[in-house]
Amino acid sequence: MQKIRPNYYDRFSCIAGECPDTCCVGWQIVIDEQSLETYAHVPGEFGKRLKKSIDWMEECFGQVDGRCCFLNERNLCEIYGELGPKMLCQTCRNYPRHVEEFEGRREFSLSLSCPVAAKLILTGEEKVEFLMEETPEEEEFEEFDFLLFTKLEDAREWMIEILQEETWSAEEKMQAILFLAKEMQTCVDAGTFFEIDDRIESCKKQKWETKNNISGRFRFMKSSVSLFEELEILRSEWKITIEKTKRLYHGEEDYKKIRMAFEEEYIEKNKESFERIQEKLLLFWIYTYFCGAVYDDEIYAKAMLAVFSTLWIEEINMMLWLENERELTEDEMIRTAWRYAREIEHSDPNLIVLDEIFSRDERFEFEKVQEAL
Ligand code: SF4
Repeated sequence: MQKIRPNYYDRFSCIAGECPDTCCVGWQIVIDEQSLETYAHVPGEFGKRLKKSIDWMEECFGQVDGRCCFLNERNLCEIYGELGPKMLCQTCRNYPRHVEEFEGRREFSLSLSCPVAAKLILTGEEKVEFLMEETPEEEEFEEFDFLLFTKLEDAREWMIEILQEETWSAEEKMQAILFLAKEMQTCVDAGTFFEIDDRIESCKKQKWETKNNISGRFRFMKSSVSLFEELEILRSEWKITIEKTKRLYHGEEDYKKIRMAFEEEYIEKNKESFERIQEKLLLFWIYTYFCGAVYDDEIYAKAMLAVFSTLWIEEINMMLWLENERELTEDEMIRTAWRYAREIEHSDPNLIVLDEIFSRDERFEFEKVQEAL
C-alpha cells in the first residue's frame, strides 16, 4: 500500500479552546458504530449524560444553539476532558485529517476548513512536497479503473509541477490545468482512451498568457455568482458574505474600477503573499480531489472546482478589502479560504451539485472561463 501526504501534514496540531472557529459548532457530528457502542457502556454520571445527549437514532451528538452539547463554555470538549483523547469518536479524532482511498493507495490531506490547517496549507515559503510511504498491506477493489487512475495521476503530477512554477501567473496555470482536464474529458467521453497520453504531452507544450480582461472576468463572475443560490448554506454569516459579494456585479464600469484599484493598490503591493495563496489554493484542490475522477469520470469538473474555488475566494477577498476601507491582511485572506471550505468542501450535497454543474452547464465551458483569466 502506498501512503502519500503533503510535507506539512504532520505539523498539524489542534489549538482547541484557542481556535477562532471551532469545528464543534455548526456541523452535525456523526458518531461511528464502535464509538456508539463504547459510549453506551460508559459508567457513572458522565455515562448517563452521554446516553442522554446522543441522538441514537441519527447517530450523532446532540446540539444546543448549533454547538455540540459536549463543548463547554471555554470551547473545550468535555468527552476529551472527562474520558481522554482515546474516547473521541472517529470524526473528532480524525478531523481535519482527510483521506482519499484508491486501490493500493491512500492519499492523506488536511481539510482547508480548519483555521490551523488552512494556515499550514496556504502559508510558508517552502515548496509543497508529497511524502510517500510503502506498507506491506495489499488490497483489491471490486471495481477500480486502474488505467484511468494512472492517467489521472500522470496529469496531476504535471499540474502540480506547473502550479509550483514561479514563472507562470496564476491565470496561466488555471488555463493550463483546465485545458488538460478538458482534453482528457473529451477522450474519456468519446472512449478514445488511447489518445490521452498524446493529449497530455501536447498540453505540456502549449503556451498560455494572462488575458487580464476585466470585462471577461466581470461576465464570468456575474454569471457564476448565482450558483451559490443552488448550494446548501450551512451558516447564516456565509449567506451575508455572498449577498455582499453579489453587489460587486451591479454594473460593469463600477466593477472595472474596483478591480483595477484592487490590482494596483492591493495585489501589486502584496504580490508575494497573494500569489503564494493562489498557488497553494489551486494545489490543495488539485491534490485532494482531482484523482477522485476515477470514480465518476468527471475530470473537467474536478479541475473546475480548483479554478472556481480559487477565483471566488479571491473575489470575496476583494469585496472584504473594499468593505474594510481598502485593507486586507494575510490572515483575513486565509480566513476567507477556510470559511469557503466549510461551506463547500464539507457539504457532500454541495460537492455533488458543483460536479454536476461544472460538467454540464455552458457557463463553465473552457472558453467561457478562459475569458476571465
Ligand atoms: S477547527 Fe481545527 S483547530 Fe479548530 S478546534 Fe477544530 S480541529 Fe482544532
